[in-house]
Amino acid sequence: MSEPLTFFDQVNRNFDKAAAFTNHPHGILEQIKQINSVIHFAFPIKRDDGSIQVMHGWRAEHSHHKLPTKGGIRYAMTVNEDEVMALAALMTYKCAIVNVPFGGAKGGIRIAAHEYSEGELERITRRFTFELFNKHFIGPGLDVPAPDFGTGPREMAWIADTYSTLAPHDINALGCVTAKPVSEGGIDGRVEATGRGVFYGLREVCSVAEDMRGLGLSPGLEGKRVVVQGLGNVGYHTAKFLQEDGGAVIVGAIEHEGAIAKRTGIDVEALMAHRRETGSILGFPGATDLASRELGLELDCDILVPAALENAITMDNAPRVKAKIIAEAANGPTSSEASDLFFERGVLVLPDAFINAGGVTVSYFEWLKNLEHVRFGRLEKRFDEQSARRLLTAIEHATGRAFSDQEISSIARGAEEIDLVNSGLEETMIEAYHEIREIFKRGGGAYDLRAASMIDAIDKVALAYADRGIFP
Ligand code: NAD
Repeated sequence: MSEPLTFFDQVNRNFDKAAAFTNHPHGILEQIKQINSVIHFAFPIKRDDGSIQVMHGWRAEHSHHKLPTKGGIRYAMTVNEDEVMALAALMTYKCAIVNVPFGGAKGGIRIAAHEYSEGELERITRRFTFELFNKHFIGPGLDVPAPDFGTGPREMAWIADTYSTLAPHDINALGCVTAKPVSEGGIDGRVEATGRGVFYGLREVCSVAEDMRGLGLSPGLEGKRVVVQGLGNVGYHTAKFLQEDGGAVIVGAIEHEGAIAKRTGIDVEALMAHRRETGSILGFPGATDLASRELGLELDCDILVPAALENAITMDNAPRVKAKIIAEAANGPTSSEASDLFFERGVLVLPDAFINAGGVTVSYFEWLKNLEHVRFGRLEKRFDEQSARRLLTAIEHATGRAFSDQEISSIARGAEEIDLVNSGLEETMIEAYHEIREIFKRGGGAYDLRAASMIDAIDKVALAYADRGIFP
């Protein structure tokens, strides 16, 4: 029997399938595929009980065709060099698909984070930042981490603070990491950006009546039955926006501890409160506990959102998955073989590199804000408001009709940072979807949307190499 494909093999298999439909020189394709640099760190930390423990961490920079490189830092026991390389490669393709001018990177520490105190996690994070700094694997113009599974704004604040201490003369130091707390140079809307991006992407996908007809679905998100796996940052926000803003019905939820189903819909906020109180999603009033969490993925639904970890859907369960649309909110949740099966069966898989790109998109906005040293909207908000008020007054004089206070305040409103961030994210997701859909259509059924998005990414990265030439 042949060895199972590693995660990085799977990404490269997807790359090769897509590359066959491009005309780029073999050498350029090989260069795009390679991990440009990868580093393994082993460093000691002192536990609270005084014992010393060796930690293992990695950072992979997949592509330097654009700098800085960008990608999250993951704290999980699954972290290894292969996983970090695969995720770094996905970041390169993701940034290209949503037109964010970064190369791809990813990092991680092999750690069961919940077994460590906050103080221990802080020491680990700061030491890891120090290691990255020493090896030139972090910096606003070099490599800019972000959160991933097991990390969040708290860890990003520690990273920013450590880097600033090590590089006191770097005026752009805050741009060394993104998804920081807003008080530490972060940006409004970053925490929920990935989930919001999944929502914008799904809303756009479902708005194309012709495509929905092909799937036997009506256009629009309203009433679509959704199952979400993983109620962490990405899964929770995706479910929340789909329910609150899209009118979708969350018919199933899957977490570590099990899966639940409720045909009439699960109130996402109530479920989160129930989990906070009881430590589990099981036993949620009105819902049925399923016999295993695996069964949750096989529930009858229109949209399945895997938002936990990679390889949730493989040939072991793909034949029993009933969803018509799979939105890969997590990175790499569908194995390459399972993806092929879905293509044959006419299931629409929205690839991770497109559908979960909201996080890196808003990280890009945060990085721009850090380099500009000014909050978005600060310069123009009041000016825009006053211009709109003058225009409304002129209309009142010309028509003899007075606007109500409510009309004035809704029209003469300058944009806040959050308005600009969400609007930029919405534009990015919509534009990216139509770019990859166009390439998919061009294929006339020869390849799926994942290959179409990969062709898009390959074309853009190859163009970057062609534009700048190869260093002799
Ligand atoms: P997170 O740690 O906030 O949440 C992950 C959730 O999945 C947790 O609630 C965990 O309990 C749950 N989970 C773990 N194993 C599970 C299982 N077997 N079944 C069901 N649930 C399980 O992480 P996150 O930031 O939401 O990231 C989730 C995924 O999204 C990862 O693949 C990550 O790479 C990807 N992603 C995250 C971002 C981001 O901005 N955070 C951006 C793009 C992609």
